[in-house]
Amino acid sequence: MGVVINPKHLSKYGETKEEQYDNILKSDPTLVKFTQDAKRETGVVQYNNYQLITERMYGTNWLLIGDAAGFLDPIFSSGLFLAIKSAFTATDAICEGTDAAFKQYQKMEMHELKVWQKLVNTWYSGGLFTLMTVGKERMDTSFGRFIGPHMQRHLTRIFTGEAVYKTYSRGFLRFILGPMIRMMKLGRLHNRNISDLAIK
Ligand SMILES: Cc1cc2nc3c(=O)[nH]c(=O)nc-3n(C[C@H](O)[C@H](O)[C@H](O)COP(=O)(O)OP(=O)(O)OC[C@H]3O[C@@H](n4cnc5c(N)ncnc54)[C@H](O)[C@@H]3O)c2cc1C
Repeated sequence: MGVVINPKHLSKYGETKEEQYDNILKSDPTLVKFTQDAKRETGVVQYNNYQLITERMYGTNWLLIGDAAGFLDPIFSSGLFLAIKSAFTATDAICEGTDAAFKQYQKMEMHELKVWQKLVNTWYSGGLFTLMTVGKERMDTSFGRFIGPHMQRHLTRIFTGEAVYKTYSRGFLRFILGPMIRMMKLGRLHNRNISDLAIK
């Protein structure tokens, strides 16, 4: 069982991470029902940041793929996709065996990770939640009926990885998460701030 929490709130649950973990479980009535007779068997492991993109991905007799090259996020299921894709691209570079091929591998891998990082950030910035919240109330209007199917098609394609490399789909995502939400606010179609729903 794990907890994702803003570090600012941790100190009120105790001093050590074990105390904090145990007290967080005790503070939630639903979790208490499941954990009241339970005993923690291990220590508590704390991660402050999962994200890491390596600056250098190859050298003499070594090359990084998958999480070793870059890990972004557990939520979007990008990890397995990127690990497998980078393995295929790396195989091509190894078969070619030139410095140019390895350099190209690193460039592509870096680009790929940056593209996914932007997508992942739409979740943590609150942009996606805001879109969902304001969109829910507007789907049954002429505006919603116009943009809804287009949004559904491109968002599904992007988040399954199919259209993540398509400039139009990424541009469309930027538009609906930024200018469109702002324009809807100007048109009094909602009264939300993106930061209201950000995961900080
Ligand atoms: C909590 C969490 C949830 C996740 N959920 C998802 C998800 O739902 N969908 C998704 O796609 N991704 C998810 N991921 C990410 C995904 O698990 C990883 O991105 C993916 O497993 C990376 O594959 P990899 O082969 O690069 O690394 P790994 O799967 O970590 O494989 C590396 C292997 O190398 C071994 N190893 C390490 N050091 C040595 C050594 N010195 N000698 C020999 N072997 C060694 C390790 O034991 C390990 O088996 C999640 C990650 C986390 C942390």
